[in-house]
Amino acid sequence: MPRAEITDLLLLEELLTDEEKAARDTVARFVDKEVLPIIGHHFREGTFPAHLIPGLAEMGVLGANLQGYGCAGMNTVSYGLILQELERGDSGLRSFASVQGSLCMFPIHAYGSDEQKERFLPGMAQGRLIGCFGLTEPDFGSNPGGMRTRAVKDGDTWVLTGAKAWITNGAIADVAVVWAKTEEGGAESIRGFLVEKGMPGFTAREIPGKFSLRASVTSELSFQEVRVPGRNVLPKVTGLRGPLSCLNNARLGIAFAVTGAAIACFEGAREYALSRKQFDGKSIAGYQLTQEKLADMLQEIVKAQLLALRLARLKDEGKATPVMVSLAKRNNVKAALEIARSARGVYGANGVTDAYPPVRHMLNLESVFTYEGTHEVHTLVLGKAITGIDAFN
Ligand code: FAD
Repeated sequence: MPRAEITDLLLLEELLTDEEKAARDTVARFVDKEVLPIIGHHFREGTFPAHLIPGLAEMGVLGANLQGYGCAGMNTVSYGLILQELERGDSGLRSFASVQGSLCMFPIHAYGSDEQKERFLPGMAQGRLIGCFGLTEPDFGSNPGGMRTRAVKDGDTWVLTGAKAWITNGAIADVAVVWAKTEEGGAESIRGFLVEKGMPGFTAREIPGKFSLRASVTSELSFQEVRVPGRNVLPKVTGLRGPLSCLNNARLGIAFAVTGAAIACFEGAREYALSRKQFDGKSIAGYQLTQEKLADMLQEIVKAQLLALRLARLKDEGKATPVMVSLAKRNNVKAALEIARSARGVYGANGVTDAYPPVRHMLNLESVFTYEGTHEVHTLVLGKAITGIDAFN
Protein backbone atom coordinates (compact mmCIF):
# COMPACT_ATOMS: atom_id res chain seq x y z
CA MET A 1 0.00 0.00 0.00
CA PRO A 2 1.46 3.38 -0.96
CA ARG A 3 -0.16 5.13 2.00
CA ALA A 4 -1.32 4.46 5.51
CA GLU A 5 -4.75 2.87 5.60
CA ILE A 6 -5.95 5.58 7.97
CA THR A 7 -6.44 8.04 5.06
CA ASP A 8 -8.84 5.55 3.43
CA LEU A 9 -11.28 5.63 6.32
CA LEU A 10 -14.31 5.31 4.04
CA LEU A 11 -12.83 2.36 2.13
CA LEU A 12 -12.68 4.12 -1.21
CA GLU A 13 -10.16 1.46 -2.20
CA GLU A 14 -13.18 -0.82 -2.70
CA LEU A 15 -14.52 1.55 -5.36
CA LEU A 16 -11.39 1.36 -7.53
CA THR A 17 -10.73 -1.22 -10.24
CA ASP A 18 -7.54 -3.30 -10.26
CA GLU A 19 -6.39 -1.29 -13.27
CA GLU A 20 -6.89 2.03 -11.46
CA LYS A 21 -5.04 0.79 -8.39
CA ALA A 22 -2.17 -0.52 -10.53
CA ALA A 23 -1.79 2.83 -12.33
CA ARG A 24 -1.71 4.64 -9.00
CA ASP A 25 0.68 2.22 -7.32
CA THR A 26 3.18 2.32 -10.19
CA VAL A 27 3.41 6.10 -9.90
CA ALA A 28 3.44 5.91 -6.08
CA ARG A 29 6.51 3.65 -6.19
CA PHE A 30 8.20 6.03 -8.62
CA VAL A 31 7.49 8.99 -6.34
CA ASP A 32 8.80 7.16 -3.27
CA LYS A 33 11.99 6.05 -5.02
CA GLU A 34 12.80 8.83 -7.48
CA VAL A 35 11.06 11.99 -6.29
CA LEU A 36 10.95 12.18 -2.49
CA PRO A 37 14.72 11.77 -1.99
CA ILE A 38 15.58 14.67 -4.32
CA ILE A 39 12.65 17.08 -4.40
CA GLY A 40 13.66 19.12 -1.34
CA HIS A 41 16.99 19.90 -2.99
CA HIS A 42 15.29 21.01 -6.24
CA PHE A 43 12.83 23.17 -4.32
CA ARG A 44 15.66 24.81 -2.42
CA GLU A 45 17.72 25.40 -5.56
CA GLY A 46 14.71 26.47 -7.66
CA THR A 47 15.36 23.83 -10.32
CA PHE A 48 13.00 21.54 -12.21
CA PRO A 49 13.99 17.84 -12.06
CA ALA A 50 13.86 17.35 -15.85
CA HIS A 51 15.72 14.04 -15.58
CA LEU A 52 12.44 12.51 -14.30
CA ILE A 53 10.61 13.13 -17.59
CA PRO A 54 11.60 9.84 -19.31
CA GLY A 55 10.41 7.92 -16.22
CA LEU A 56 7.06 9.72 -16.31
CA ALA A 57 6.73 8.92 -20.02
CA GLU A 58 7.53 5.27 -19.44
CA MET A 59 4.68 4.97 -16.92
CA GLY A 60 2.26 6.53 -19.42
CA VAL A 61 1.77 9.68 -17.32
CA LEU A 62 2.09 12.17 -20.21
CA GLY A 63 -1.32 12.59 -21.84
CA ALA A 64 -2.43 9.58 -19.78
CA ASN A 65 -6.15 10.04 -20.46
CA LEU A 66 -5.85 10.54 -24.23
CA GLN A 67 -6.45 7.81 -26.80
CA GLY A 68 -4.00 6.85 -29.57
CA TYR A 69 -0.71 8.48 -30.64
CA GLY A 70 1.23 6.50 -28.05
CA CYS A 71 -0.91 7.78 -25.13
CA ALA A 72 -1.97 5.42 -22.35
CA GLY A 73 -5.74 5.90 -22.86
CA MET A 74 -6.51 5.70 -19.11
CA ASN A 75 -9.87 6.67 -17.65
CA THR A 76 -10.28 9.87 -15.62
CA VAL A 77 -10.07 8.08 -12.26
CA SER A 78 -6.68 6.55 -13.12
CA TYR A 79 -5.51 9.91 -14.42
CA GLY A 80 -6.62 11.62 -11.20
CA LEU A 81 -4.95 8.98 -9.04
CA ILE A 82 -1.59 9.28 -10.80
CA LEU A 83 -1.71 13.06 -10.50
CA GLN A 84 -2.49 12.63 -6.79
CA GLU A 85 0.66 10.53 -6.39
CA LEU A 86 2.79 13.05 -8.30
CA GLU A 87 1.42 15.84 -6.12
CA ARG A 88 2.26 13.78 -3.03
CA GLY A 89 5.82 14.17 -4.30
CA ASP A 90 5.60 17.80 -5.33
CA SER A 91 3.09 20.07 -7.02
CA GLY A 92 5.82 21.28 -9.40
CA LEU A 93 6.19 17.83 -10.91
CA ARG A 94 2.40 17.40 -11.03
CA SER A 95 2.06 20.83 -12.70
CA PHE A 96 4.51 19.71 -15.38
CA ALA A 97 2.36 16.64 -16.09
CA SER A 98 -0.94 18.59 -15.98
CA VAL A 99 0.31 21.19 -18.44
CA GLN A 100 1.91 18.66 -20.78
CA GLY A 101 -1.17 16.42 -20.84
CA SER A 102 -4.25 18.49 -20.16
CA LEU A 103 -3.22 21.90 -21.46
CA CYS A 104 -0.95 21.14 -24.41
CA MET A 105 -1.60 17.59 -25.66
CA PHE A 106 -5.36 17.79 -25.04
CA PRO A 107 -5.98 20.82 -27.32
CA ILE A 108 -3.83 19.29 -30.08
CA HIS A 109 -5.73 16.00 -29.66
CA ALA A 110 -9.18 17.65 -29.54
CA TYR A 111 -8.78 20.55 -31.96
CA GLY A 112 -5.69 19.78 -34.06
CA SER A 113 -5.44 18.50 -37.64
CA ASP A 114 -4.41 14.88 -38.25
CA GLU A 115 -1.03 16.17 -39.40
CA GLN A 116 -0.54 18.18 -36.16
CA LYS A 117 -1.49 15.18 -34.04
CA GLU A 118 1.00 12.94 -35.83
CA ARG A 119 3.70 15.61 -35.66
CA PHE A 120 3.45 16.43 -31.95
CA LEU A 121 1.55 13.88 -29.86
CA PRO A 122 3.79 10.77 -30.04
CA GLY A 123 6.88 12.84 -29.14
CA MET A 124 5.00 14.52 -26.30
CA ALA A 125 3.74 11.18 -24.91
CA GLN A 126 7.36 9.94 -24.97
CA GLY A 127 8.58 13.09 -23.22
CA ARG A 128 10.84 13.98 -26.17
CA LEU A 129 8.82 17.15 -26.80
CA ILE A 130 7.74 19.46 -23.98
CA GLY A 131 4.63 21.59 -24.23
CA CYS A 132 3.23 24.68 -22.55
CA PHE A 133 -0.06 26.61 -22.62
CA GLY A 134 -0.08 30.38 -23.05
CA LEU A 135 -3.32 32.07 -22.07
CA THR A 136 -2.55 34.45 -19.17
CA GLU A 137 -1.03 37.85 -20.02
CA PRO A 138 0.64 40.41 -17.77
CA ASP A 139 -2.59 42.48 -17.70
CA PHE A 140 -5.20 39.74 -18.19
CA GLY A 141 -5.40 36.79 -15.78
CA SER A 142 -8.91 36.13 -14.44
CA ASN A 143 -10.30 37.86 -17.54
CA PRO A 144 -8.46 36.16 -20.42
CA GLY A 145 -11.06 37.40 -22.92
CA GLY A 146 -9.38 40.82 -22.71
CA MET A 147 -6.08 39.45 -24.08
CA ARG A 148 -3.96 41.72 -26.26
CA THR A 149 -1.88 39.10 -28.07
CA ARG A 150 -2.94 39.29 -31.72
CA ALA A 151 -2.50 37.20 -34.83
CA VAL A 152 -2.93 38.82 -38.24
CA LYS A 153 -3.26 36.70 -41.36
CA ASP A 154 -0.69 37.37 -44.07
CA GLY A 155 -1.18 34.99 -46.97
CA ASP A 156 -0.49 31.49 -45.74
CA THR A 157 1.01 32.54 -42.42
CA TRP A 158 -0.13 34.37 -39.28
CA VAL A 159 1.90 37.15 -37.70
CA LEU A 160 1.76 36.86 -33.90
CA THR A 161 2.51 39.80 -31.58
CA GLY A 162 2.11 40.04 -27.82
CA ALA A 163 3.18 38.53 -24.51
CA LYS A 164 2.08 35.80 -22.12
CA ALA A 165 2.93 35.60 -18.42
CA TRP A 166 3.17 32.88 -15.74
CA ILE A 167 3.53 30.08 -18.25
CA THR A 168 4.40 26.70 -16.70
CA ASN A 169 7.11 24.84 -18.70
CA GLY A 170 7.50 27.98 -20.87
CA ALA A 171 11.29 28.23 -21.06
CA ILE A 172 11.77 24.47 -21.58
CA ALA A 173 8.94 24.00 -24.08
CA ASP A 174 9.44 22.80 -27.64
CA VAL A 175 5.88 23.79 -28.52
CA ALA A 176 3.59 26.40 -26.98
CA VAL A 177 -0.18 26.41 -27.48
CA VAL A 178 -0.72 30.16 -27.63
CA TRP A 179 -4.19 31.70 -27.60
CA ALA A 180 -4.45 34.96 -29.56
CA LYS A 181 -7.09 37.36 -30.84
CA THR A 182 -7.82 37.25 -34.57
CA GLU A 183 -10.02 39.25 -36.88
CA GLU A 184 -11.66 37.26 -39.60
CA GLY A 185 -14.40 38.59 -41.87
CA GLY A 186 -14.73 41.68 -39.67
CA ALA A 187 -15.44 39.61 -36.54
CA GLU A 188 -13.06 39.29 -33.56
CA SER A 189 -12.30 35.79 -32.33
CA ILE A 190 -9.65 33.73 -30.51
CA ARG A 191 -7.58 30.95 -32.04
CA GLY A 192 -4.90 28.55 -30.81
CA PHE A 193 -1.45 28.66 -32.44
CA LEU A 194 1.31 26.05 -32.13
CA VAL A 195 4.40 28.20 -31.69
CA GLU A 196 7.62 26.21 -31.90
CA LYS A 197 10.91 26.82 -30.14
CA GLY A 198 13.30 28.66 -32.44
CA MET A 199 10.67 30.49 -34.49
CA PRO A 200 12.16 33.95 -35.09
CA GLY A 201 10.68 36.56 -32.71
CA PHE A 202 9.63 34.00 -30.06
CA THR A 203 11.49 34.18 -26.73
CA ALA A 204 10.85 32.77 -23.26
CA ARG A 205 12.45 33.80 -19.99
CA GLU A 206 12.00 32.39 -16.53
CA ILE A 207 10.22 34.51 -13.90
CA PRO A 208 12.58 34.92 -10.93
CA GLY A 209 11.76 35.14 -7.23
CA LYS A 210 8.96 32.58 -6.79
CA PHE A 211 8.44 31.25 -3.26
CA SER A 212 5.97 28.72 -4.65
CA LEU A 213 6.37 25.86 -7.16
CA ARG A 214 10.11 26.39 -7.02
CA ALA A 215 10.70 22.98 -8.60
CA SER A 216 8.73 24.07 -11.68
CA VAL A 217 9.62 26.31 -14.62
CA THR A 218 7.37 29.42 -14.85
CA SER A 219 8.05 31.84 -17.69
CA GLU A 220 7.14 34.92 -19.65
CA LEU A 221 6.70 34.44 -23.38
CA SER A 222 7.24 37.21 -25.90
CA PHE A 223 6.08 37.23 -29.52
CA GLN A 224 7.48 39.90 -31.77
CA GLU A 225 5.95 39.47 -35.18
CA VAL A 226 6.41 35.71 -35.06
CA ARG A 227 5.43 34.20 -38.42
CA VAL A 228 3.42 31.08 -37.62
CA PRO A 229 2.66 28.88 -40.67
CA GLY A 230 -1.00 28.15 -41.36
CA ARG A 231 -0.41 24.45 -40.70
CA ASN A 232 0.33 25.37 -37.04
CA VAL A 233 -3.12 26.86 -36.34
CA LEU A 234 -5.54 24.60 -34.44
CA PRO A 235 -8.29 24.25 -37.06
CA LYS A 236 -11.18 22.89 -35.01
CA VAL A 237 -11.88 25.57 -32.41
CA THR A 238 -12.44 29.31 -32.24
CA GLY A 239 -13.31 31.61 -29.35
CA LEU A 240 -12.70 31.35 -25.60
CA ARG A 241 -14.33 27.91 -25.64
CA GLY A 242 -10.95 26.53 -26.80
CA PRO A 243 -8.78 27.54 -23.83
CA LEU A 244 -11.63 27.19 -21.32
CA SER A 245 -12.30 23.58 -22.32
CA CYS A 246 -8.59 22.79 -21.76
CA LEU A 247 -8.69 24.45 -18.34
CA ASN A 248 -11.80 22.54 -17.38
CA ASN A 249 -10.02 19.32 -18.22
CA ALA A 250 -6.93 20.30 -16.22
CA ARG A 251 -8.90 21.58 -13.21
CA LEU A 252 -10.59 18.25 -12.72
CA GLY A 253 -7.17 16.63 -12.51
CA ILE A 254 -6.05 19.29 -10.04
CA ALA A 255 -9.06 18.73 -7.79
CA PHE A 256 -8.00 15.08 -7.62
CA ALA A 257 -4.27 15.82 -7.37
CA VAL A 258 -4.20 18.14 -4.36
CA THR A 259 -5.32 15.41 -1.99
CA GLY A 260 -1.83 13.99 -2.60
CA ALA A 261 -0.21 17.04 -1.02
CA ALA A 262 -2.77 16.90 1.80
CA ILE A 263 -2.01 13.23 2.48
CA ALA A 264 1.75 13.88 2.54
CA CYS A 265 1.21 16.67 5.08
CA PHE A 266 -1.20 14.64 7.22
CA GLU A 267 1.01 11.55 7.30
CA GLY A 268 4.08 13.60 8.11
CA ALA A 269 2.32 15.53 10.87
CA ARG A 270 0.92 12.32 12.41
CA GLU A 271 4.32 10.67 12.46
CA TYR A 272 6.02 13.77 13.84
CA ALA A 273 3.36 14.24 16.53
CA LEU A 274 3.78 10.64 17.69
CA SER A 275 7.55 10.99 18.02
CA ARG A 276 7.84 14.54 19.39
CA LYS A 277 7.69 14.77 23.18
CA GLN A 278 6.90 17.87 25.23
CA PHE A 279 6.01 18.14 28.94
CA ASP A 280 6.73 15.07 31.07
CA GLY A 281 7.91 12.95 28.13
CA LYS A 282 4.45 12.81 26.62
CA SER A 283 4.15 12.78 22.81
CA ILE A 284 2.39 15.83 21.40
CA ALA A 285 0.00 13.42 19.61
CA GLY A 286 -1.45 12.78 23.07
CA TYR A 287 -2.63 16.35 23.49
CA GLN A 288 -6.20 17.11 22.54
CA LEU A 289 -5.40 20.17 20.44
CA THR A 290 -2.99 18.16 18.27
CA GLN A 291 -5.61 15.44 17.92
CA GLU A 292 -8.15 18.03 16.80
CA LYS A 293 -5.75 19.21 14.09
CA LEU A 294 -5.19 15.64 12.90
CA ALA A 295 -8.92 14.87 13.04
CA ASP A 296 -9.74 17.97 10.95
CA MET A 297 -7.06 17.01 8.41
CA LEU A 298 -8.31 13.46 8.04
CA GLN A 299 -11.93 14.56 7.78
CA GLU A 300 -11.13 17.00 4.95
CA ILE A 301 -8.95 14.44 3.13
CA VAL A 302 -11.75 11.88 3.14
CA LYS A 303 -14.28 14.46 1.90
CA ALA A 304 -11.91 15.68 -0.83
CA GLN A 305 -11.25 12.13 -2.01
CA LEU A 306 -14.97 11.39 -2.21
CA LEU A 307 -15.59 14.56 -4.21
CA ALA A 308 -12.73 13.87 -6.60
CA LEU A 309 -13.68 10.26 -7.16
CA ARG A 310 -17.34 11.03 -7.81
CA LEU A 311 -16.43 13.85 -10.20
CA ALA A 312 -13.96 11.68 -12.13
CA ARG A 313 -16.58 8.92 -12.49
CA LEU A 314 -19.10 11.50 -13.74
CA LYS A 315 -16.53 12.72 -16.25
CA ASP A 316 -16.06 9.18 -17.55
CA GLU A 317 -19.85 8.93 -17.91
CA GLY A 318 -19.90 12.22 -19.84
CA LYS A 319 -21.89 13.97 -17.09
CA ALA A 320 -19.32 16.30 -15.46
CA THR A 321 -20.16 20.00 -15.86
CA PRO A 322 -17.89 23.06 -15.41
CA VAL A 323 -19.87 24.02 -12.28
CA MET A 324 -19.10 20.65 -10.69
CA VAL A 325 -15.43 21.11 -11.57
CA SER A 326 -15.43 24.59 -10.00
CA LEU A 327 -16.91 23.21 -6.80
CA ALA A 328 -14.33 20.43 -6.58
CA LYS A 329 -11.34 22.62 -7.43
CA ARG A 330 -12.47 25.30 -4.98
CA ASN A 331 -13.12 22.89 -2.12
CA ASN A 332 -10.16 20.56 -2.53
CA VAL A 333 -7.45 23.15 -3.06
CA LYS A 334 -8.62 25.19 -0.08
CA ALA A 335 -8.82 22.06 2.06
CA ALA A 336 -5.32 20.96 1.02
CA LEU A 337 -3.91 24.41 1.72
CA GLU A 338 -5.46 24.49 5.19
CA ILE A 339 -4.20 20.97 5.91
CA ALA A 340 -0.67 21.99 4.86
CA ARG A 341 -0.80 25.06 7.12
CA SER A 342 -2.12 23.05 10.04
CA ALA A 343 0.49 20.31 9.51
CA ARG A 344 3.17 23.00 9.42
CA GLY A 345 2.02 24.07 12.86
CA VAL A 346 2.26 20.53 14.27
CA TYR A 347 5.98 20.55 13.41
CA GLY A 348 6.54 23.71 15.45
CA ALA A 349 9.78 25.48 14.52
CA ASN A 350 10.91 22.50 12.46
CA GLY A 351 7.87 23.14 10.26
CA VAL A 352 9.23 26.39 8.89
CA THR A 353 12.29 24.67 7.44
CA ASP A 354 12.57 22.64 4.26
CA ALA A 355 13.80 19.68 6.29
CA TYR A 356 10.13 18.62 6.46
CA PRO A 357 7.62 18.72 3.60
CA PRO A 358 4.57 20.72 4.86
CA VAL A 359 5.92 24.21 4.24
CA ARG A 360 6.94 23.23 0.69
CA HIS A 361 3.45 21.86 0.00
CA MET A 362 1.88 24.90 1.67
CA LEU A 363 3.83 27.32 -0.53
CA ASN A 364 3.12 25.26 -3.65
CA LEU A 365 -0.60 25.20 -2.91
CA GLU A 366 -0.67 29.00 -2.85
CA SER A 367 -0.07 28.87 -6.62
CA VAL A 368 -2.65 26.13 -7.09
CA PHE A 369 -5.13 28.35 -5.20
CA THR A 370 -4.50 31.04 -7.85
CA TYR A 371 -4.00 29.15 -11.11
CA GLU A 372 -6.59 27.24 -13.12
CA GLY A 373 -9.18 29.82 -12.06
CA THR A 374 -8.61 31.56 -8.76
CA HIS A 375 -10.51 30.48 -5.67
CA GLU A 376 -12.57 33.68 -5.97
CA VAL A 377 -13.42 33.11 -9.63
CA HIS A 378 -14.70 29.59 -8.83
CA THR A 379 -16.76 31.15 -6.04
CA LEU A 380 -18.38 33.43 -8.62
CA VAL A 381 -19.00 30.49 -10.98
CA LEU A 382 -20.90 28.79 -8.16
CA GLY A 383 -22.60 32.06 -7.23
CA LYS A 384 -23.85 32.46 -10.76
CA ALA A 385 -25.08 28.85 -10.88
CA ILE A 386 -26.91 29.31 -7.58
CA THR A 387 -28.49 32.73 -8.21
CA GLY A 388 -28.50 33.12 -11.98
CA ILE A 389 -26.74 36.46 -11.45
CA ASP A 390 -23.34 37.05 -13.04
CA ALA A 391 -21.15 38.84 -10.44
CA PHE A 392 -17.97 38.93 -12.55
CA ASN A 393 -18.48 42.47 -13.78
P1 FAD B 1 -5.91 38.67 -11.27
O1 FAD B 1 -6.87 38.22 -12.33
O2 FAD B 1 -5.30 40.02 -11.42
O3 FAD B 1 -6.63 38.55 -9.86
C1 FAD B 1 -6.06 39.09 -8.67
C2 FAD B 1 -7.05 38.87 -7.53
O4 FAD B 1 -8.31 39.49 -7.85
C3 FAD B 1 -7.35 37.37 -7.33
O5 FAD B 1 -7.55 37.11 -5.97
C4 FAD B 1 -8.66 37.19 -8.07
O6 FAD B 1 -9.44 36.11 -7.59
C5 FAD B 1 -9.34 38.52 -7.82
N1 FAD B 1 -10.33 38.84 -8.86
C6 FAD B 1 -10.13 39.06 -10.18
N2 FAD B 1 -11.29 39.31 -10.80
C7 FAD B 1 -12.26 39.22 -9.87
C8 FAD B 1 -13.67 39.36 -9.89
N3 FAD B 1 -14.36 39.63 -11.00
N4 FAD B 1 -14.33 39.22 -8.71
C9 FAD B 1 -13.67 38.91 -7.56
N5 FAD B 1 -12.35 38.77 -7.48
C10 FAD B 1 -11.64 38.91 -8.62
N6 FAD B 1 -1.43 30.76 -16.92
C11 FAD B 1 -1.36 30.18 -18.16
O7 FAD B 1 -1.96 30.66 -19.13
N7 FAD B 1 -0.58 29.08 -18.36
C12 FAD B 1 0.13 28.50 -17.36
O8 FAD B 1 0.82 27.49 -17.59
C13 FAD B 1 0.09 29.10 -16.04
N8 FAD B 1 0.87 28.61 -15.04
C14 FAD B 1 0.93 29.30 -13.84
C15 FAD B 1 1.86 28.91 -12.86
C16 FAD B 1 1.96 29.62 -11.67
C17 FAD B 1 3.00 29.25 -10.67
C18 FAD B 1 1.08 30.71 -11.41
C19 FAD B 1 1.15 31.45 -10.12
C20 FAD B 1 0.17 31.09 -12.37
C21 FAD B 1 0.09 30.41 -13.60
N9 FAD B 1 -0.77 30.83 -14.63
C22 FAD B 1 -0.73 30.25 -15.87
C23 FAD B 1 -1.54 32.06 -14.46
C24 FAD B 1 -2.83 31.89 -13.66
O9 FAD B 1 -3.77 31.17 -14.39
C25 FAD B 1 -3.31 33.30 -13.29
O10 FAD B 1 -2.39 33.79 -12.31
C26 FAD B 1 -4.73 33.33 -12.76
O11 FAD B 1 -5.65 33.14 -13.80
C27 FAD B 1 -5.06 34.66 -12.05
O12 FAD B 1 -4.71 35.74 -12.83
P2 FAD B 1 -3.83 36.95 -12.21
O13 FAD B 1 -2.66 36.36 -11.54
O14 FAD B 1 -3.62 37.91 -13.32
O15 FAD B 1 -4.73 37.57 -11.09
